[in-house]
Amino acid sequence: MPPSHSVPDRAGVVIIGGGIAGCSLAYHLTKIGLTDVVLLERKKLTCGTTWHAAGLVGQLRATRNLTELARYSADLYGSLEAETGQATGFKQNGSISVANNLERLEELRRGASMGRQFGLRIDSLEPGEIKERWPLLEVSDIVGGVYLPKDGQTNPIDTANALAKGAKQRGARIFEHTPVMRVLTEKGRAIGVRTAQGDIRADSVVICGGMWSHGLAADVGVALPLHAAEHFYIVTEPIAALPRNLPVLRVQDECAYYKEDAGKILMGCFEPVAKPWGLEGIPEDFCFDTLPADHEHFEPILRAAMRRVPILTDAGIQLFFNGPESFTPDDRYYLGETPEVRGLFVASGFNSVGIAGSGGMGKVLAQWIVDGHPPMDLSDVDVRRVMPFQANRRYLRDRTVETLGLLYAMHWPHYQYRSARGARRTPLHDRLLAAGACMGEAAGWERPNWFAAPGSNPEYRYSYGRQNWFEACESEVRAVQGGVALFDQTCFAKFLVQGRDALRLLNRMSTAQIDVAMGKVVYTQWLNARGGIEADLTVTRLAEQEFLVVTSAACQTRDLSRLKLEISRQDGHASVTDVTPGIAMLGLMGPNSRELLTALSRADLSNQAHPFGWSREIEIGYARVRAARITYVGELGWELYVSAEHCLDVYERLIDAGAAFGLRLAGYHAMAACRVEKGYRHWGHDLGDEDTPLEAGLAFTCAWDKPGGFIGREALLAQRQQTIPKRALTKRMVQVQLLDDSAAAPLLYHEEPIVRDGQTVGSIRSGAWGHRLAKSLGMGYVTCPDGVSQDWLDSGRWEIEVGCVRHPAIVQLQAWYDPRNERINA
Ligand SMILES: Cc1cc2nc3c(=O)[nH]c(=O)nc-3n(C[C@H](O)[C@H](O)[C@H](O)COP(=O)(O)OP(=O)(O)OC[C@H]3O[C@@H](n4cnc5c(N)ncnc54)[C@H](O)[C@@H]3O)c2cc1C
Repeated sequence: MPPSHSVPDRAGVVIIGGGIAGCSLAYHLTKIGLTDVVLLERKKLTCGTTWHAAGLVGQLRATRNLTELARYSADLYGSLEAETGQATGFKQNGSISVANNLERLEELRRGASMGRQFGLRIDSLEPGEIKERWPLLEVSDIVGGVYLPKDGQTNPIDTANALAKGAKQRGARIFEHTPVMRVLTEKGRAIGVRTAQGDIRADSVVICGGMWSHGLAADVGVALPLHAAEHFYIVTEPIAALPRNLPVLRVQDECAYYKEDAGKILMGCFEPVAKPWGLEGIPEDFCFDTLPADHEHFEPILRAAMRRVPILTDAGIQLFFNGPESFTPDDRYYLGETPEVRGLFVASGFNSVGIAGSGGMGKVLAQWIVDGHPPMDLSDVDVRRVMPFQANRRYLRDRTVETLGLLYAMHWPHYQYRSARGARRTPLHDRLLAAGACMGEAAGWERPNWFAAPGSNPEYRYSYGRQNWFEACESEVRAVQGGVALFDQTCFAKFLVQGRDALRLLNRMSTAQIDVAMGKVVYTQWLNARGGIEADLTVTRLAEQEFLVVTSAACQTRDLSRLKLEISRQDGHASVTDVTPGIAMLGLMGPNSRELLTALSRADLSNQAHPFGWSREIEIGYARVRAARITYVGELGWELYVSAEHCLDVYERLIDAGAAFGLRLAGYHAMAACRVEKGYRHWGHDLGDEDTPLEAGLAFTCAWDKPGGFIGREALLAQRQQTIPKRALTKRMVQVQLLDDSAAAPLLYHEEPIVRDGQTVGSIRSGAWGHRLAKSLGMGYVTCPDGVSQDWLDSGRWEIEVGCVRHPAIVQLQAWYDPRNERINA
């Protein structure tokens, strides 16, 4: 239909896409007072994916903040009718997830412990209780389940329309049949959009284009890796015996969910091998379209469903539905400002939770656009986690085959993707494989997680308890502790910062003093103005005006974009080059590392000549290697930076000479176990933009009095002020140790509640079995309104809740392993 309207030539915010995401954003922008909003939809509101969603609104998510957002969505959808006059069809009939086996039951119960500390009501159910709530279900082989009474379901079209109506009532302008042809940019900023009716200039542009988002972003050089996949459900004929108040039911082990839908059953699936769609592009005229049914593909799920809900056998099937939805390589959506183009925001790639997610998403993204920063820690979904290569279509297509099914697969700790592997490999890749490496993936890099003993298979067998790599990991840690181990840490991101004003730039960004002697390695955080930790990394001064910044693989895009942003804000002379691909990094860790390196390099590596925290060039083989004496495992050791072309030469010499010193190869599981024992924090787990260095126990990095200060200093000073004279901080990181040190002691992973005198006061951020101490360990934050004082810590009775069972524990502020750093300074 040809458009019969004209568009304005200016707006505060232009939103591209009128699915539930775009409508929710328009609603929330206007709600916080930004009413100069234009939403452009290429065809009709909801005509992409939104219209055909099943409408489940589950609330439990993997993090506290994402759970809070989903909970907000449910509250919002329940109240929109009263506000806008448009019904949403939302009903809060709860949800039940059932387990067919004990491992799934453990997963559900661990989730219940986590969800309760997020404030959700979650009840554990026995099979009989499940049957009472879902009488049509066959439960003879069900071992248990959980019930979330506040979960709900909604009508996606009506809900999106209610959001759009609310937005319009407050002044937003919505134009249908107005495709955006292109985002307009100038000097790295989005300045508006182009439509057939003319250009619209805007302060901010937001891509809410569902499965079209990849292309819209790619046109302006932005990587937005998502891919559509076919997504299926069936709807039965009306079933007279069907109770109308049935909770939504999830049988994840059979890849299926069930919902009562106007007297019928809607049964949808998350099959293990999905069908990517739109490989040749999305048809121009796609509008409320469906995809062809695929009975063969759906049949195994349907067969299992008929056994599980026998009434399906007799009920006729009214509709075999198939529609496309966007999936991302890590099953998490994208939110926030793109690192490539300032002022260009995204909200897309919803992995089948866009209805449940959009209410909360709209709220935080609106605030983000207005304030210029996220209102809470949203790093899980922040678009700055994307690696540019991930926008590659072949990679996306291959990964999408797996990601859809993972939503209902077991969420195993340390799960490694099976698809789209091998994208980034280090120069040592084949050597390490030949040595028995079991590779894991981080940011697309292949890296050894553990080494299988000769004769055993380097293959993952997952478990919540001790996994099949437990012993391999233990013996690698023994080498780290008693001999010497070699880690391939090439995946760490490395940036070269140069220029007359490089020092001023980095000093302003860093909590620590960067104006140090040549060769000094400085451990520092980068903060936001609120004192929250945006990055955790090292800066090495290579020359007067040259610095090497090293950060984790996962933070490559994020930290690089922060550097670029600060450079652009500075009126000075500094540049950054990402040198990650050209420089390999080998971690040589353990008490014999000095002797091994000395034997190879003939350099004086004594404490006097090369103390901890310093780096310098040494010779190994035919190469010049930068040897930095630092560690992430808490032992004497050096990180060796070797240009990629010399890496094999250096590696071979280390291996040959290392035999005499007990050298063995070690992987990232061993590294993680050691760093938890040593209390070394990890950005993304233990540190985030809502945690300050004071709370994280990292105040020692802060050079309070350096000239020019640092970003976030004033906020930290204010926080410090609150603790004077006698008060302690109300939130602090603690190190946790379970008292049970038997082989049956549970392992801690993520978000297990920390309980003091029966009350939940915090949660675990990271955990591991500490092989050097033979203890189950974790670290996390605890809060106390009167201050987390030593006395409060000492006087409490501590427990950690794992899968609804509480385990006695002890806590302390300092690391369990070598708290005086004697081993790293040896
Ligand atoms: C079978 C199925 C079942 C589902 N069940 C659930 C569920 O139970 N619960 C849940 O939470 N989620 C569910 N989902 C997922 C949910 O439907 C999506 O995550 C959500 O609808 C995505 O919304 P969106 O606004 O991002 O995308 P869309 O609804 O696709 O909206 C994007 C819009 O952008 C427009 N657009 C694109 N390009 C342009 C352009 N250049 N100019 C202007 N406009 C443009 C499109 O026309 C489209 O209308 C399901 C999905 C499927 C397929």
